[in-house]
Formats: sequence, C-alpha cells, structure tokens
Amino acid sequence: MAPAALQPFLSLLNNKPVKLLIAGGILIVSTEIAYELVLWWRKATKPKPKSCEVFFINRRKLVEPLPTPQDFLYEHINRIISYIDRAEKSICLAMYIFTMREICEAVIRAKRERSVVVRVVTCESMVANEGSFLRDLIAEDIKVQYKYKSEYLMHHKFCLLDTDWYCANCLIAYHTAEYGEPTKNMQHTLFDKAVMSDRAALLQRFGSSCVRCNPAERNKQDKRQRKQSNNPLPKHGLILAGSSNWTFPGLTTHWDTITVASLPELIDPFAAEFQRMWYELNDPLGLTHTREPLYKRRCGADF
Ligand SMILES: [Zn+2]
Repeated sequence: MAPAALQPFLSLLNNKPVKLLIAGGILIVSTEIAYELVLWWRKATKPKPKSCEVFFINRRKLVEPLPTPQDFLYEHINRIISYIDRAEKSICLAMYIFTMREICEAVIRAKRERSVVVRVVTCESMVANEGSFLRDLIAEDIKVQYKYKSEYLMHHKFCLLDTDWYCANCLIAYHTAEYGEPTKNMQHTLFDKAVMSDRAALLQRFGSSCVRCNPAERNKQDKRQRKQSNNPLPKHGLILAGSSNWTFPGLTTHWDTITVASLPELIDPFAAEFQRMWYELNDPLGLTHTREPLYKRRCGADF
C-alpha cells in the first residue's frame, strides 16, 4: 500500500490525459536525446582534417570512382580553388607567376561575393608578363604591390587564407623575438630600419591593435565567420606553399610541390614575412604598368 500522502499523486497518474501528456513528454525528450547522439556520433566518426598535407604536382592518388580525365588533370588546381572558395576573411598571396584563369576567378569571387580582403605581392619581372592575370585582379580593385626597379626577385609562391593580420606592435614583437632586435651595426632592410628608428611608419601602416593582442576581437571575428560559412577554414587559417607557380604546367605536370597546412607554427612565420614584404615592396601596381594579356587577344586560349 502506498502512503496516504502519495494517493492524490498516484490517482493523477491514472488519469488518461495525464498519462498521454507524460508519454508525449517522454517521446519528445528521447527524440531530442537520440538526435543529439546522432550528431555526436557523426562528429566522432568524421575523419579529422589533416593539419598538414604535401602534394606532388605530377603524382596523383588512385581513388574510386576514377575521376574524369579533366578532373584528374585539374586535381591540384581544383584543390586550391576549393580552399579559396572557403576563405571568409583574407587572402594574402605572394606569387611569382600567376597565369591560371580559374584561380584568378576564385580570388575575384572571394572579394566580390564575400568581401574577403585580398592582398597580392608580386615581382616586377612579372608585371609585363602577357599571360598574367594580375590585370584582372587590379581591375577588380584588388591591391597588388611590387617593388619598382628592385635588384631582387620576389620569387615566393605561397598563399595565406583567413590568417591573422598583425598590428605594428605584434609584428615588431614577432620579428624581434625571431630575428633579434636590429642594431646600428647590422645591414638592414627597410623593415628593420623602421623597427629601429621609424616605428611611427609601421604604426601608421599596420595600426596598434589586432586579434593577437586583443583576444576579445578574435572571438567576435570567429563567431561572425562561423555564422557566415558552413565550412569555415581552420581557426588559425591555412597556408598553401611550395615550389609551384600558379600556372597550368606548374599545377599539372611539373616536378613541383604544394604543402597545405593549418599549423600555427608554420603559418606564423609566413604571415609575418608577408607583412614585411607588404611594407617593403610597396609600389602599387596599376593597369598602366601591365600589358593587355595575351588571352584577351588570342580569344579563348588558355595559359
Ligand atoms: Zn596586435
């Protein structure tokens, strides 16, 4: 026999509508639990993206189903495009030769459709290259910089996607920690000279606050980015770097390599170096410096 105090409660449980209400409640809760379990299972079983991968341009993995000959040929090009298409914040490109139309279109798409900040550094020796797509980027109001009459090639081939942009203070702190405080007896680049005696110029160029020294700003930015994209790039961004110029043979047949990595210890040096170049190779490239590309004259020809 149940104690007398429980009798009203038990008789309430015997009431049919109450029974139905309880059964409905249990059903809703168990459905919710099952749904959460499925989500957790999916997440747990989903293979984690690698933090670093190396691709050799003239080496392809055999996969099933076999790709079409076009997909097979464009494997590395399509991979680069798929990463660029996921960028939501920034693209920093240092590229010696850039003649791939499809990649240029992806960069323009990022700027036009997702307001991604695009910065390009190139080499003066490539400015007059008639296969270059730099003209198309400049026509889109994308900032392309180089050094006029430089003795040295800007020979890099790397691209940073959604990585942090250092403020002047963080940039100086990074370079000083890695390379030492510049002193009067050293040979200096323009950047070192500014660190030594014209920090105001660096502050003017890069500001005094960034997500590195102001973590609250990073959280805000991350939230915004994750809301916008259902497939965001890794938290610290991505680097694509290697020996390949962004040309058709450079990305399809040459003995070349591309490394794709989300490792902060690999990204940070490239990000800081890109900004050093942004400071030093600071002549803006305009349409008047570049030639009408050959592809526009040769109607449809691909480079
Ligand atoms: Zn900072």
